Amino acid sequence: MSYDAVVFDNDGVLTEITDWAVLRGAAADAFASFDVDPSDDDLRTVLSHVTVDGLEAVCARHGIDPEAFWYRRDTNYADVQRREIRDGRKPLYDDVDAVRALDLPKGIVSSNQHATVEYILSHYGLHDHFETYYGRQPTVEDVRRKKPDAHFIDRALVDLGTRNALYVGDSESDVEAAHNAGIDSAFLRRPHRADAVLSTDPTYEFETLAALTELV
Ligand SMILES: [Mg+2]
Repeated sequence: MSYDAVVFDNDGVLTEITDWAVLRGAAADAFASFDVDPSDDDLRTVLSHVTVDGLEAVCARHGIDPEAFWYRRDTNYADVQRREIRDGRKPLYDDVDAVRALDLPKGIVSSNQHATVEYILSHYGLHDHFETYYGRQPTVEDVRRKKPDAHFIDRALVDLGTRNALYVGDSESDVEAAHNAGIDSAFLRRPHRADAVLSTDPTYEFETLAALTELV
């Protein structure tokens, strides 16, 4: 199969995932700025697998505005991740060289903050390699639009001018989002996903981005 474009997830694909304790601290600080002492459940709800329903329920329980809380949570996340990147704790994977070498239009669709994706592109000098990129804006609406919703993949495909594209990610929600957008998926089984069992079959499964060289 050959493709006209490839779209990548960021975390766990291009850069290493962010230290869980750092993100948890950033979420706890967001609650603290609304004078809320969060339970473990509250914190779990607003971490990576957040849903709009979960977010609204937590905010209702503590009498805080979901939009204002979420803005604080997401800007805290962007702040701490910039620091992690700057201090070398969120490096690029070595096999990103294979992505740089791919001679076709490329994009990024991440559930991380758009500001974080932008910082990654600048910090690692990757801007020239990606025609388009999307992360989330710090709004409740963009929580609704995150993967597995096809919203941002659809937008990237419009920018890339093709629907004959492959989406590469390291999570089940990446595989689902690709299929929701009607395109093929590649599941990247990095060491942190060694034991992952997917309920949706990806089109391909790889252990390294170098496999893309043959495929596309
Ligand atoms: Mg990922």
